[in-house]
Amino acid sequence: MNSFNRRSFLKTVVTTTAGLGITGAMTIAKAAPVPTKWDEETDVIVIGSGFAGLAAAYEAQKAGANVVILEKMPVAGGNSSICGGKMTATGCPQQKKHKIDDSIKLMMDDTFKAGNNQNDADKVKFIAENQLPVYNWSVDEIGVKWAPNDIFQDGGHTVPRSVWSANGSGSGIVDALLAKLAEKGIKPRLRTYVEHLIRDPETGEMLGVQVRTNYRFPNSDSGKVKTIRAKKGVIAAWGGFSADPVYRQLQDQRLLPSLQNTNQPGATGELWREAAANGVSMIMVDAIQCVPFSNPHEKGFGVAWQFSQNAAGQFGLWVNSLGKRFVNELANRKVSADAMFAEHKDGRRVFAIGTLKSCAGLLSFQPKYLDNAVSIGAIGKYDSLEALCKANNLPYNEVKAAVDQVNESVKTGNDAVMGRYIDKEFQPLVEGPWLIAEMSPKVHHCMGGIKTDVKGQALDVRTDKPIKGFYAAGECAGGTHGAVRLGCNGVLDALAYGREVGKNVANAN
Ligand SMILES: Cc1cc2nc3c(=O)[nH]c(=O)nc-3n(C[C@H](O)[C@H](O)[C@H](O)COP(=O)(O)OP(=O)(O)OC[C@H]3O[C@@H](n4cnc5c(N)ncnc54)[C@H](O)[C@@H]3O)c2cc1C
Repeated sequence: MNSFNRRSFLKTVVTTTAGLGITGAMTIAKAAPVPTKWDEETDVIVIGSGFAGLAAAYEAQKAGANVVILEKMPVAGGNSSICGGKMTATGCPQQKKHKIDDSIKLMMDDTFKAGNNQNDADKVKFIAENQLPVYNWSVDEIGVKWAPNDIFQDGGHTVPRSVWSANGSGSGIVDALLAKLAEKGIKPRLRTYVEHLIRDPETGEMLGVQVRTNYRFPNSDSGKVKTIRAKKGVIAAWGGFSADPVYRQLQDQRLLPSLQNTNQPGATGELWREAAANGVSMIMVDAIQCVPFSNPHEKGFGVAWQFSQNAAGQFGLWVNSLGKRFVNELANRKVSADAMFAEHKDGRRVFAIGTLKSCAGLLSFQPKYLDNAVSIGAIGKYDSLEALCKANNLPYNEVKAAVDQVNESVKTGNDAVMGRYIDKEFQPLVEGPWLIAEMSPKVHHCMGGIKTDVKGQALDVRTDKPIKGFYAAGECAGGTHGAVRLGCNGVLDALAYGREVGKNVANAN
């Protein structure tokens, strides 16, 4: 699925759910008792079919376990399928090709700095040391194709260190994992809604789940109730809740329901509530990230973000409606989103501006990206900077002064105004065509979640000890990112920890 097919994924889900009137969290039924007789037994239950769930299922099956993947939506992949598909990969061949000086230590420092040092240090170390192993596994074992020549830089990373899935979307990774699992006879069970976790009231062990098969999102009373026992363990890989306006505002009052979000509609909080109700330790649930560079005129994440972040952010500039730069374009997401909220509060809009040359990296592996984005109006294209300013009601003289300052910093390698990292491959902004997209923060990612130890075992809220038979990975597990997730660390975290919990659950007694 490329960036444009992402729209059809969402359309399928939205069409299927149209008229059901989802507004947020589902109805929560009463707790499920331990059944006297289970309807089905397996070794491992994986809840969720995104990166974390699929990687976990792959490794658990490889280690000899019988695995069932449960997914409530009519399509597999969750946010992972619609995501940008960029992954932090310090030391990868693309980074070496561009002779970028980097280290695991520097990547860890950046992760802690963005995370306000609230990160779980063991988990940061784990993902940092797993960058190359995950990259190599994705290529050699799973068959993921990454853009072969380019290395990208997201805000908050000191240097370029992200690889990009060759189709410009997380679906490139999800589809490869689904294909590998299908070879082993494992397919996610779609429309299977997990409504309850079932813990043994005496021992505290996680025994299994209660589901609704043939479920129709978002109707929590639809489908047929069934219980499944997991002899080795249950893996939580159910993602975040950015598409759940009720639950997210319970955590952070500022996240008004009117704020747009970038997530798939099923990113709701019912299992976050269920985990809390079952005595699972939850941390930093109010750490919810807004992504700064999405276009407010597009629904969801849209497509303009690729230009705004990885062309204009890295090789162009961001200005407000006074024509002035207002933030370091490569600052972390919280810094950028807060700066945009402040501009909006004062009645100003914010824009990303670049030229065709700014898009060289993007176009090297997605040659049709720009034409498509311009044709649907997500990006504006003009012959001259003057024409761009006129069409977008921007003051030409101020924008020109900002462009000149950026060009000066390209010449000297030093951005005296915002202190942005100046990429060696940054070309001065001189010739057209000139490109522009508006930006606005949208609710995007949950940094908090289930408290896990470094092996991915979920902890009990009363004892702080691992809950036997219960693991968590990906966005529903808290701690790795601290207060603010760095772009591209989400894919890494979900794949690295998905693999880890898959191996650990299969080897559990
Ligand atoms: C638009 C977008 C772009 C992004 N781009 C990037 C990027 O380029 N790089 C990066 O590092 N990160 C990116 N991220 C973040 C990244 O996508 C996530 O960190 C990652 O996909 C999380 O994977 P996951 O497996 O934990 O969750 P998901 O992929 O969200 O999977 C969770 C699954 O669980 C299912 N589920 C939930 N509740 C239930 C239930 N009750 N019963 C059954 N199933 C349930 C959901 O439907 C979903 O399919 C992006 C996120 C978004 C939204």
